[in-house]
Amino acid sequence: MNLDDLPIRDELRGSTPYGAPQLDVPVALNTNENSYPVPEAVVEAIVAAVREEASGLNRYPDREATALRADLARYLGHDLTVANVWAANGSNEVLQELLQAFGGPGRTALGFTPAYSMHPILSRGTGTDWIDGRRNDDFSVDAESAAADVRKHDPDVVFLCSPNNPTGTALGLDVVEAVLAESRGMVIVDEAYAEFRRPGTPSAISRLGLSPRLVVTRTMSKAFALAGARLGYLAADPAVVDAIQLVRLPYHLSSITQAAARAALAHTDALLATVEAIKEQRDRIVSSLRTRGLEVVPSDANFVLFGGLGDQRAVWQRMLTQGVLIRDVGLPGYLRVTAGTPAETDAFLEALDFSLKGQA
Ligand code: PMP
Repeated sequence: MNLDDLPIRDELRGSTPYGAPQLDVPVALNTNENSYPVPEAVVEAIVAAVREEASGLNRYPDREATALRADLARYLGHDLTVANVWAANGSNEVLQELLQAFGGPGRTALGFTPAYSMHPILSRGTGTDWIDGRRNDDFSVDAESAAADVRKHDPDVVFLCSPNNPTGTALGLDVVEAVLAESRGMVIVDEAYAEFRRPGTPSAISRLGLSPRLVVTRTMSKAFALAGARLGYLAADPAVVDAIQLVRLPYHLSSITQAAARAALAHTDALLATVEAIKEQRDRIVSSLRTRGLEVVPSDANFVLFGGLGDQRAVWQRMLTQGVLIRDVGLPGYLRVTAGTPAETDAFLEALDFSLKGQA
């Protein structure tokens, strides 16, 4: 018996689940997590907040997560309020809810590939047809060609990802504005890596006033070092939050998650203290790889995509034998590495040199 023997939906036949390998290795630089553990003071605050909730777990959580959304709005600034913000179990769930509300059977979503692999997977899961938009050869997206793709395909949902996973490239706001002007559907800017941007690439949050069709998604999984807590969120016009209420599961965000996220947000400065150190390692990885004559995509995120590797699968495998796990994102000749601690960068570069020697 395998899944094809089941009366599964036709569009799911032959597809594969999201599957970054979860291997127990000394140096895990494959899922763009924050390598730094949660600081002890924040651990204490989270434990105290969760403890406070424990006796009340006989009751359902606040279905609206109002206090948490108010904290998130305060963190984002831009005069946003609780009405502009929605939160769920990771930004993946937020994205799925957006597709449930604005995609669905008979509707289409367009994204500029290669981008976050979950965008097409979530689209397929919600019965939304996926359309690949075009990126330039250097993985950038420009306003003109993005608008042309939107004009051609007239999608119900457009995904922009800035900084983009797996390329690390950030988008100019001219692209967001051009896509918004050209489309009649929702425009979702996935800003999971926003906190790692270099100066000069402002957030699309500054453009929310342009249209109620614009949505910006964020997460606490990366800069906040809270991937295990599962907390993602969006900022948009209050009408978008109203639309999501129609599809969200009741009580989707547990009291424990809400309490932990609020305790973490109360320590934003302590949690974001690692961001500068990670950006330093990112920039060190970029320059070290360039020195080695590799092709490196400029990065505004906490990871670097690099190419010129020949058989990237073989390089990936040899690095794994050295205890260093990075990511083969399926782009021939390219691999992606997460920027972590200085010691992890050392180990990565050493394993890479070993692996490239093996290739020669
Ligand atoms: N968007 C992008 C671009 C990502 O890379 C990721 C995680 N890899 C996510 C969203 C989802 O993150 P989470 O569900 O942990 O918030």
